[in-house]
Amino acid sequence: MIGLISATAAGAAARDRLAVAWPDRTRVYEGPVGDAVRSAFAECEQLVCFLATGAVVRLIAPLLGEKSTDPGVVCVDEAGRFAVSLVGGHGGGANELAREVGELLAAQPVVTTATDSVGLPGLDTLGFPVEGSVATVSRALLDGEPVALRAELPWPLPPLPLAEEGAYAVRLTDRAVEPAGNEVLLRPPSLVVGVGASRGAPADEVLGLVEETLRDAGLSPRSVAELATVDAKAGEPGIVEAAARLGVPVVTHSAEELAGVQVPNPSDAPLAAVGTPSVAEAAALVGGGELLVPKRKSERADGRPAMATCAVVRRPARGRLAVVGLGPGARDLLTPRARAELRRASVLVGLDQYVDQIRDLLRPGTRILESGLGAEEERARTAVAEARAGQAVALIGSGDAGVYAMASPALAEASDDIDVIGVPGVTAALAAGAILGAPLGHDHVSISLSDLHTPWEVIERRVRAAAEADIVVTFYNPRSRGRDWQLPKALAILAGHREPTTPVGVVRNASRPDESSRLTTLGALDPAWVDMMTVVTVGNTATRNIAGRMVTPRGYRWQTSEEGAK
Ligand code: SAH
Repeated sequence: MIGLISATAAGAAARDRLAVAWPDRTRVYEGPVGDAVRSAFAECEQLVCFLATGAVVRLIAPLLGEKSTDPGVVCVDEAGRFAVSLVGGHGGGANELAREVGELLAAQPVVTTATDSVGLPGLDTLGFPVEGSVATVSRALLDGEPVALRAELPWPLPPLPLAEEGAYAVRLTDRAVEPAGNEVLLRPPSLVVGVGASRGAPADEVLGLVEETLRDAGLSPRSVAELATVDAKAGEPGIVEAAARLGVPVVTHSAEELAGVQVPNPSDAPLAAVGTPSVAEAAALVGGGELLVPKRKSERADGRPAMATCAVVRRPARGRLAVVGLGPGARDLLTPRARAELRRASVLVGLDQYVDQIRDLLRPGTRILESGLGAEEERARTAVAEARAGQAVALIGSGDAGVYAMASPALAEASDDIDVIGVPGVTAALAAGAILGAPLGHDHVSISLSDLHTPWEVIERRVRAAAEADIVVTFYNPRSRGRDWQLPKALAILAGHREPTTPVGVVRNASRPDESSRLTTLGALDPAWVDMMTVVTVGNTATRNIAGRMVTPRGYRWQTSEEGAK
């Protein structure tokens, strides 16, 4: 629960906005502020005080105990300009709360905790298991001391301001080593353990074999990415439980696929039982990589035949290509997932003007490869090449990166040796639609009028089809200085099937600072209003201008039918 405390009328107004926005998370404390702060401090996990920091410091000073248990406290000033994370930045969640409160009240979050304020990733938030002196090495990073990266294998890491040499080190390794005093170990998910098991093999036998094999080979169980086996063993309890205890998934492959993998130790037994001469070695080797431990059988104290086999492979590092849509422009239309991917990337590839849009969100140390308009193919190639070299890459585009943008040229270049993660963004047609009203309430298409890469005949055929099918059309790339006849031509084709009074929305720079829009008609549209920063949405024969908003009915019968009335 978040306790809310205020003293003045302005404070109470801001307080009420939080209380209304988060009814289940907040509780208002009324009465004298001193008592209110004391009660809230005792009863809540977090406090938001609409009071001066000085006042709050004095009130909570005698109440402070341990940083692990104290509530997080945020102060908001009288004018509502700042949300200050005062105490409990990490443990009490005050930094995050200051950001949330800031967003809600349009106040600037003020965060002074070191790792957050300089944008450094906490070493324990990189998405890898860590061991060793996290606090010591983090402090060294913050103090600007040289911290070396000792990567024993290539792996796509987020950006870290690391040096070649230094008294401190971040060591990326899957080997079973102990961290030195000034060292943090990062465990990449680089090991695949192939397992085979007879029906009814006990989990202890499977797990014991896996653990012993890793120990003898000097490998860390924390780098195991998965247990791999044959489809027929997907539900084998001993394997399922061993995986659960290791905290990794069971990944299965068909016997046919496994039979096609070259292995050093094929045998007849699995061939008869499940249809492949190798389970453990083949399953471990399916994705390629280096066989570190060939097939090994469990040993049973009672001398009965072994029921489990395993083999260990170090898989090749897979680069990571995130194709990230930034939305139409406004920061709050950039999705949290896009933001996370931007921070996950060590290499950012994009058009210079889009890079400018999000530069402040990047982590220090991010390598930025920006280029100008027209270099699409080159950008796509660069992004894929960096990912294939094992990097974590973000390729950015405005709106949705898959809509008239970088995703298709990049994926046309990409091979299956990299992971590709798509992050959808709010495309211009949707951003414009929300400004205009509800123009896309029924079937709609987007058509780009750029004939640089598409022959005009093709574009015209599509416009004609949309016109005949009475579909709402949004034109992207509608008009530029050198391309001015295409839009009038396309509108004329639509006018052949729609009244001159058909509503048309023209939106320029949707969600950007100089956003403008107008609602006009097919008969009255002046192409001079339109440029490359604009989308033009033409209604269908049912679209209406209702109270200045463009509305396309859900269906021709929907609104009068009984169902529609519900
Ligand atoms: N990937 C982008 C589209 C790229 S094509 C997206 O999904 O939105 C470029 C065209 O998109 C521009 O010529 C313009 O027609 C349109 N566009 C992009 N952003 C826009 C915005 N904020 N406002 C209006 N139109 C926009």
